[in-house]
Amino acid sequence: MSSFFKHYRFLLLRRITQVSLLVLYFGANAWGWHVLQGNLSSSLVLDTIPLSDPYATLQLFAAGGLVATNLLVGALIITLFYFVIGGRAFCSWVCPMNMVTDFAAFLREKLEINRIQDKQPATRKMRYWILGLSFILSLFLGVAAFEFVSPISMLHRGIIFGMGFGWAAVAVIFLFDLFVLKNGWCGHLCPLGGFYSLLGRYSFIRVRHSEEKCTLCMKCKQVCPEHQVLFMVGKESLQVLDGECTNCGRCVEVCEDDALNFSIRNYLGNTQSKGE
Ligand code: SF4
Ligand code: SF4
Repeated sequence: MSSFFKHYRFLLLRRITQVSLLVLYFGANAWGWHVLQGNLSSSLVLDTIPLSDPYATLQLFAAGGLVATNLLVGALIITLFYFVIGGRAFCSWVCPMNMVTDFAAFLREKLEINRIQDKQPATRKMRYWILGLSFILSLFLGVAAFEFVSPISMLHRGIIFGMGFGWAAVAVIFLFDLFVLKNGWCGHLCPLGGFYSLLGRYSFIRVRHSEEKCTLCMKCKQVCPEHQVLFMVGKESLQVLDGECTNCGRCVEVCEDDALNFSIRNYLGNTQSKGE
């Protein structure tokens, strides 16, 4: 394997997956393809299998709306899928906003804005407050509240059906991440990411760190969009159990010591034996 591909293998696969999904959605709208129709809230695969965003479906419930059976089935399929592979795999492998925020993070690093503003105080728990607020607002307003203002939907629908005012919301998030707060939107504010973090707490696929192989270069923490989940690096051999890990694989591919790898969750205990 060439060192370039080894270093970027998950990033390349993620971009191919994200762009391919967008092409399929676009093709359904522009040329009548039947592979993947709809949008990120509700889709249909091959005219048969429904897929729905469980967070949007729960907001509909809170709003007191009637939820159609295929919406419920679709939400269940998506919930099970991400429960197995990791909740926030949605973020790093599917969500189109991830390409925007990753680009902002890349530029931030290149322009060395990180080093100037890394001390900025902000809690990553804000996304859970916004998540709770979205359900309360849905209850009182009688509509799926976040869906009305979701920049993710604006971007996704904009790419498929044509971009209107949605560019402004995307630009605000890009500039916010670039100049105001590192990983500001996805790592602090997005309630959909927060929802998938909760869903992914008990997922099967986990990154595992081997302390005995680690040379403390800290490259993993530099590239990780949720670096707090890698608290064990260099200290203990553990699986990353925090639901905020996006299973993006960046830490795995940048680690030249093979100290990080994907693994199946050890439900019986998280401590790895020495030499494993
Ligand atoms: S945190 Fe939100 S915007 Fe970011 S990738 Fe996840 S769902 Fe998309
Ligand atoms: S721990 Fe690794 S896989 Fe998880 S978010 Fe960080 S870089 Fe991505």
